[in-house]
Amino acid sequence: MSAFRSLSATALRACARPLAVSRPAIRAATVTRSLGAIRTFTSDALPTPIFHLTETESMLAETVDRYSKDTILPKVRDMDEAEMMDPTVVSGLFENGLMGVEIPEEYGGAGMGFGEAVLAVEYLAKVDPSVSVMCDVHNTLVNTVFLKYGTEAIKKEFLPRLATSDVGSFCLSEPASGSDAFALQTKAKLSEDGSHYILNGSKSWITNAYEAGVFIVFANVAPEKGYKGITAFIVEKGQEGFEIAKKEKKLGIKASSTCQLTFDDVKVPKDRVLGEVGKGYKIAISILNEGRIGIAAQMIGLAQGAFDNAVDYVFNDRKQFGQSIGDFQGLQFQIAQARVEIEAARALVYNAVRVKQSTDALTAAGESNKGFVQEAAMAKLYASQVAQKVAGSAIEWMGGMGFVREGLAEKFWRDSKIGAIYEGTSNIQLQTIAKLLQKEYKR
Ligand SMILES: Cc1cc2nc3c(=O)[nH]c(=O)nc-3n(C[C@H](O)[C@H](O)[C@H](O)COP(=O)(O)OP(=O)(O)OC[C@H]3O[C@@H](n4cnc5c(N)ncnc54)[C@H](O)[C@@H]3O)c2cc1C
Repeated sequence: MSAFRSLSATALRACARPLAVSRPAIRAATVTRSLGAIRTFTSDALPTPIFHLTETESMLAETVDRYSKDTILPKVRDMDEAEMMDPTVVSGLFENGLMGVEIPEEYGGAGMGFGEAVLAVEYLAKVDPSVSVMCDVHNTLVNTVFLKYGTEAIKKEFLPRLATSDVGSFCLSEPASGSDAFALQTKAKLSEDGSHYILNGSKSWITNAYEAGVFIVFANVAPEKGYKGITAFIVEKGQEGFEIAKKEKKLGIKASSTCQLTFDDVKVPKDRVLGEVGKGYKIAISILNEGRIGIAAQMIGLAQGAFDNAVDYVFNDRKQFGQSIGDFQGLQFQIAQARVEIEAARALVYNAVRVKQSTDALTAAGESNKGFVQEAAMAKLYASQVAQKVAGSAIEWMGGMGFVREGLAEKFWRDSKIGAIYEGTSNIQLQTIAKLLQKEYKR
């Protein structure tokens, strides 16, 4: 079921306006799930389906869907071939408020919530998973770290830029530390006068790095303390000693930049530390836990995009043996099965969003809660599996037309492979789920 089906008439009317125009309306209509609402939901109120969106979420989904189809879709094939994001796409994301979804209005953002950020990622991915991951990393990783861990001075300086002009990157992985992220080797040494840190090392696989102006860089200030020396620093494009060493050529999400970075005596002022010195590992763990829900959303958007593209062809365009290929039961059953799996994955993703929102509310109220780590891991694991399966089947449903680079079927499948790799591989998600199960069941 498409999320749009739950749109109210008012929301639909508002969505008929361009996104930029409807943003104030979106803000005014923002509905946050209060602690009370969550409790009611679990007691005697009429249960709502997991696909039920708030009015703001519905409007956001609708407007992003229309914006992506009208503005991004015509550029997708060229961007993939050129392995480069069109700068007008990047500026369009900023102009339409999609790079500051959760940044409060006082800092120039859209002042919305996590649900809206995840929906933006999902609906962009229906058209282009590359654009989607740019928006995802920027919003769910970079902006969230600044919002949660930045001092007021840092927020005032960086949030308006992140909301309106500067793309952000999240730099954790290194040549020798992928799944074992805290084995990172990049070091930060405090200068003799104590005014700044000096960063040396390198980072691998950094999304958005080619376009980014602001980088969150994890480095170790005390390697002898192991992961307890890891600290998050703000580095800016153009700083002396900081370079993009290589832009990777990839199988999929080709328009999304993925770069190797080097740091050669890069000076970072002492006040450009995010959170506490030595607590960067906690930042990385907590941000990646919620970031995973964003990647899961990217994968269900991708699956839906691949499905829509192929099913439209099957039912409307192609005839064999004198009839539409969509009239063959053999194809119909495969399509029906795929639909079920997409819906199941979407239910896991939306549930992870709601559990995260209730976790945030309970934590803010000082109440204990079980968190959302398992829900996020399950959502990412399954959504990436479904994306890969559906995007692969979609090629077969289209025959030769699915295999050529004229359409988008083959691209969706290439793009789907990354879901099982970044922000924790599928094995790492299984490990997370298994560890929690062990805690739950072991006597
Ligand atoms: C396109 C792209 C974009 C990325 N963007 C970013 C970014 O913006 N920022 C960033 O910091 N990083 C980024 N990454 C890095 C990404 O998070 C890592 O690639 C990922 O964590 C896996 O690390 P690895 O590639 O070193 O694989 P490895 O860790 O070497 O894993 C290889 C295989 O071993 C398995 N494995 C490893 N450990 C275990 C274990 N304990 N149990 C079972 N199996 C295990 C894995 O599941 C995998 O199958 C990106 C990567 C890619 C490809």
